[in-house]
Amino acid sequence: MPKYDLHSHSTYSDGLLTPDEVVRRAAVRGVDFFALTDHDETAGLAEARLAAQDAGITLIPGAELSVSWESHTLHILGLRIDEANADLDAGLASIRSGRDARAHRIAAGLEEAGIEGAYEGARRYVTSDRLISRTHFARHLVESGYAKDTKDVFKRFLTPGKPGYVKHAWATLSDAVDWIHGAGGVAVVAHPGRYKVSPTGMRRLLGEFRDAGGDGIEVLSPSHTPAQFAEYSAYARVFGLAASCGSDYHGPGEGWLDLGDLPDMPAGVTPIWTRW
Ligand code: AMP
Ligand code: MN
Ligand code: MN
Ligand code: MN
Repeated sequence: MPKYDLHSHSTYSDGLLTPDEVVRRAAVRGVDFFALTDHDETAGLAEARLAAQDAGITLIPGAELSVSWESHTLHILGLRIDEANADLDAGLASIRSGRDARAHRIAAGLEEAGIEGAYEGARRYVTSDRLISRTHFARHLVESGYAKDTKDVFKRFLTPGKPGYVKHAWATLSDAVDWIHGAGGVAVVAHPGRYKVSPTGMRRLLGEFRDAGGDGIEVLSPSHTPAQFAEYSAYARVFGLAASCGSDYHGPGEGWLDLGDLPDMPAGVTPIWTRW
């Protein structure tokens, strides 16, 4: 059975490996169909495509779009997108454009908590001028001894209610789905188990997503427990959504799941690749 890994990051967002390196690592690890899905960014896809041709695997061009829904930030994966599409490109640029001002506000919040110079510190970890993220702050804060690891740094500094968390308006859910569809792609709710919503909220979210034309949800993700693999398979069936799988790989030493290391898709779901 071919191996799919449909969620990963490179140095064009908050990953540690270049697109070339991440594609080659996926190929070595036996992945047949591989999606690079940088946050709000498609600039790494050209390099990934060349590497995939060379390594003999299939690149699924993707992106992971930041979305504000109710009081939550959601991530919506666009898979099999045409990154040359002008509306998608403009949409992604609009999402990215708020990130630098947000980063200054994050640094101001951290400064009030006694942490000086966090903006400049985070910048040292940025690998693409086009994108700064909380991950870059996290790497800086760990390296500077403010927290023991990234999990700890998010818990203490970068999540709602903590000094380095700022509210931010990302894209709307319907805009994100429309840009992805306009570019010929399919839209997938990334790691639904990560959102702090009640069961009623999850049903409302998936209902709105489906009504906006959304195609699938990520069932297999390192953000999910095995119990959640089953739970989100059931949601997929109930809402008529396809199921996706991805390691959300960010680089060596980041996260606990390496490229391609995913269990088989649970029985009874429609894999997202049958929709393309
Ligand atoms: P941003 O898009 O700037 O809000 O950054 C979000 C990124 O931070 C995610 O894509 C993850 O890579 C990382 N992240 C979020 N929450 C956590 C967490 N609890 N532990 C480690 N990394 C996290
Ligand atoms: Mn990330
Ligand atoms: Mn995500
Ligand atoms: Mn991701």
